[in-house]
Amino acid sequence: MAVLSRCSRAVTAATTPNAAAAKFSYLIRALSPFSSSSSSSSTFDADNGLNSRIKPAVLGTLKREPKDRNVQWVFLGCPGVGKGTYASRLSDLLGIPHIATGDLVRDELASSGPLSSQLKEIVNQGKLVSDEIIIDLLSKRLEAGEAKGESGFILDGFPRTVRQAEILEGVTDIDLVINLKLREEALLAKCLGRRICSECGGNYNVACIDIKAENGKPGMYMAPLPPPPQCASKLITRADDTEEVVKQRLRIYQAMTLPVEDYYRSRGKLLEFDLPGGVRESWPKLLHALNLEDEEHKQSAAA
Ligand code: AMP
Repeated sequence: MAVLSRCSRAVTAATTPNAAAAKFSYLIRALSPFSSSSSSSSTFDADNGLNSRIKPAVLGTLKREPKDRNVQWVFLGCPGVGKGTYASRLSDLLGIPHIATGDLVRDELASSGPLSSQLKEIVNQGKLVSDEIIIDLLSKRLEAGEAKGESGFILDGFPRTVRQAEILEGVTDIDLVINLKLREEALLAKCLGRRICSECGGNYNVACIDIKAENGKPGMYMAPLPPPPQCASKLITRADDTEEVVKQRLRIYQAMTLPVEDYYRSRGKLLEFDLPGGVRESWPKLLHALNLEDEEHKQSAAA
């Protein structure tokens, strides 16, 4: 409760604009060709680390054929958990845009536009950018997508505050929120090992995480995620992936974004997914949880 009221004080202090919210509303509606409510009350056999207290209607959407689904999904999870990796794989699989607000912020930083120096200071200290700026960047991205005929979205890094979740929920019906979870010991190492291709934006990881079993807790192994040869000489490290800043981002996640998990949990939209290890083990289990295994088989058969 104390955390929630801290959140709302922080957000009220921010200049959350009606104008930005209205623009966001228009754009999101324009991108939502289907009604996302479902009358199905069937249950889904969720296993593989899934702990679902999900509304039957939301589970019903997971049982539909992917082509009939209204994919307006959100990825939640601590910095370093792998939201970008899994959101981008799902985006490729389903042909739905992956929109990462962190990428929008970094693009703005790189553009040397009017916001650039203000954003640099905030991001490099691991702090959150104001709701106003984030909604404006997201609106512009959605507008560009609309012009290209995009439909649906997989959001990564948004919403990050309860206020952002309220704005989003006020303008569209998010179908599903996938909450990725990973053991805390692995998060810092994964952020420090993250490398980005400066040319294609691909996300790789040089960390080899090998947590030994201890006191009844199982071990965990996560192999590095090496870049393909064409990216190997172009790798960069994010300026906010230093130990001090990652620890600050983890603290901010606990204070500002953990309440967002509760927000969606109480609305029956949160699908908890405990990552069992690296991509090789986790990806098939995530596909199973999302009832998308056939989709991947179809895609690999067509390749
Ligand atoms: P990420 O790539 O998601 O880790 O985001 C990098 C940085 O961008 C964050 O540490 C924030 O400074 C900023 N950022 C990204 N998304 C948001 C958001 N939804 N709200 C506020 N700040 C954000």
